[in-house]
Amino acid sequence: MKKAVVMGSGFGGLASAVRLLNKGYDVTIIEARDQLGGRASVFKKDGYTFDAGPTVITAPYLINELFELLNENPKDYFELMPIDPFYRIVFQDQTHFDYVGDEERLIENIRKLSPSDVDGYKKLALHAEKIFDVGYTQLADHPFDSVASMLRVLPDMIKLKNYKSVYSLVSTYIKDERLRQAFSFEPLLVGGDPTKITSIYLLIHWLERKWGVHFIKGGTNALVNAFEKLLIKKGAHVIKNKPIHRIDVKDGVVRGVITTDESYYPCDVLVSNADPVRVYRDMIKNTDRSTHSDWRLKLKTHSMSLFVAYFGTKKQYPNIKHHTILMGPRYEGLLKDIFQKKVLPDDFSLYLHAPTRTDRSMAPDGKECFYVLAPVPNNLSKINWETEQSIYKEKIYQWLDKNYLPGLIDNLDVDFHINPTYFESDLRSEHGAAFGIEPTMTQSAYFRFHNRSEDIKGLYFVGANTHPGAGVPGVLSSAKVIEKVVPKAAEIMAWS
Ligand SMILES: Cc1cc2nc3c(=O)[nH]c(=O)nc-3n(C[C@H](O)[C@H](O)[C@H](O)COP(=O)(O)OP(=O)(O)OC[C@H]3O[C@@H](n4cnc5c(N)ncnc54)[C@H](O)[C@@H]3O)c2cc1C
Repeated sequence: MKKAVVMGSGFGGLASAVRLLNKGYDVTIIEARDQLGGRASVFKKDGYTFDAGPTVITAPYLINELFELLNENPKDYFELMPIDPFYRIVFQDQTHFDYVGDEERLIENIRKLSPSDVDGYKKLALHAEKIFDVGYTQLADHPFDSVASMLRVLPDMIKLKNYKSVYSLVSTYIKDERLRQAFSFEPLLVGGDPTKITSIYLLIHWLERKWGVHFIKGGTNALVNAFEKLLIKKGAHVIKNKPIHRIDVKDGVVRGVITTDESYYPCDVLVSNADPVRVYRDMIKNTDRSTHSDWRLKLKTHSMSLFVAYFGTKKQYPNIKHHTILMGPRYEGLLKDIFQKKVLPDDFSLYLHAPTRTDRSMAPDGKECFYVLAPVPNNLSKINWETEQSIYKEKIYQWLDKNYLPGLIDNLDVDFHINPTYFESDLRSEHGAAFGIEPTMTQSAYFRFHNRSEDIKGLYFVGANTHPGAGVPGVLSSAKVIEKVVPKAAEIMAWS
């Protein structure tokens, strides 16, 4: 049997493994860490289950179809729970906006905040749907690795004003600053600055409206476990705790991988779910990669990072919604500090995750499980997290205690945190970027890392750094591209 190795087990890697099995390969997943899932790993502590990363599950068909591809019923593996509202967005003036899927209720909620923006929102939604039809339906799961593919969509992108940023496009339709923020914050979920990122990412709004926002019972990591069960049942080999540190290339063709303990795994196809900057620069001799030379890799810009505090409370907060965005006093200024100036701001905007609102199994009886996430600059900032992290976390807890979770500090039961070092060291992400390379216009679509290596035959890339980009739907779509560009195992003789 032809052998495929998948380096890394984020959702992009797991989905690729499923698709490679379906193409007839003998599949081995090699993961550096002691658990699968990458950013979607889990911290379990004192009866609490803390999802480390993704919590908002959209476009569930992308997940279901992977189980169906291997003739399994997804319902036998995991349970989806719809979330309503999708998000509560709380503004500095203590007003709030519930972003819901149902159009009538959504319009009503807009009317409550700003009656004069109802018509503008309707036009914005139409615009987002058109962007979705091009940016998602036509492009997300198709290879985007030729100039011709870019030229084909360019006229549509210009017509849809994708040269404008998400915030700027939203602002042409919506006048109320609070609603401008509510309809433009979503690119932050894929590592983009809403005031800079191309408005093609407004498709996220339509994607959520179309398929809803969901939670996986038991947490997102329960889905990782479901994939692990599926893959093992279907004959894939799963290896943990073995970082790959070299790729064996001969005559421009990938031959195998070498792990840090010097084990050699031969393969005909290698799908990398690891950071392509590190893969090209650190694992492949520079004589084997003329396209991805060191200086070209250096030109890449990287997304922001995150500071995330995970905490359990002895007290319950029944009024808190499952997903809450807490807007701070500044929006554009804060984004500028994080993305451009790369300084740690004194203020913050936060995302608060309260999974116990939907699923009591996430915390011990009578207790509540949370994480609070603050976007922060990536490690190019040179912030000394060793000294800053406790101060920063304390500031966040005090702010939450005063404004949103009264009695939090006195009721903390469990508490720990991650900072950009986690992304740089544990997840091997360049400069500690939480979402891979930045999704700017010049690093999106054709300009993002291609799913098929231009330099080496048999080498492919999936995940947040590749087309179409970060976020669970993005990386699952990148695996669909893999299915299109990797030959069937039976056809592979062609390139040796
Ligand atoms: C805190 C947080 C919250 C998020 N929230 C959401 C959300 O709610 N909804 C959403 O859609 N998206 C969200 N995202 C984004 C989403 O989680 C990611 O874009 C996505 O999960 C990344 O998947 P990936 O396929 O790129 O792989 P990754 O998750 O990046 O995994 C890559 C894997 O490769 C492994 N690896 C790296 N190098 C090697 C090596 N040399 N050898 C072997 N293995 C290696 C790593 O250990 C890792 O397991 C969030 C991200 C974060 C960080």
